[in-house]
Amino acid sequence: MAKKKKGEEKDMGKVAIYPGSFDPITYGHIDIIERALEIFDKVIIAIAENAEKRSLFSVEERLQMVKIIFKDTPNAIADSFKGLLVDYVAKTNAKVILRGLRATSDFEYEFHMASMNRSLNTHLDTLFMMTSKDYFFVSSRTIKEVAKLGGGVEGLVPDLVARRLKEKFKLPITKKKQIVWDD
Ligand code: ADP
Repeated sequence: MAKKKKGEEKDMGKVAIYPGSFDPITYGHIDIIERALEIFDKVIIAIAENAEKRSLFSVEERLQMVKIIFKDTPNAIADSFKGLLVDYVAKTNAKVILRGLRATSDFEYEFHMASMNRSLNTHLDTLFMMTSKDYFFVSSRTIKEVAKLGGGVEGLVPDLVARRLKEKFKLPITKKKQIVWDD
């Protein structure tokens, strides 16, 4: 067994990096994080700053929401990064990238990304967790589309996120839409 270098004596535990846009975070993401915390000692939620991708919430807004949501879970850490994910991971002591899978349609993209990341850093592995049955249809994109049109997203995102979406789309916070059908 290789001798530990100075400074490596402290076992930091098993760390996973969960990268994504989180624009905004949903219960689909939260479910993956909570389940991953049963396996890993620490999960770093790494919000990607991608200038190419137009986002609804700024990185600071996304980071703030994640921090508030996990304020009582010290093992779930929110952070952001720019550039290559493998470079960011190299700065941490994580060996695992965590990703969620919702449908077979996610698979091809994820397979390519995981293979690319492994070719960039052979010490890194990507671990996939299957979505829960309650959230397989939840994506940040559909949440934004529904919220923009005034649809209720409660139960799919935390209340804080639902409120922030209403603020972004300038919708009244207390509004409840009800359609009454005449006989
Ligand atoms: P989105 O695809 O929702 O815009 P992100 O880029 O923020 O999301 O996704 C980060 C990771 O979380 C990806 O691996 C994505 O597949 C996963 N994920 C997103 N929504 C869900 C969900 N409802 N269930 C399981 N995994 C999910």
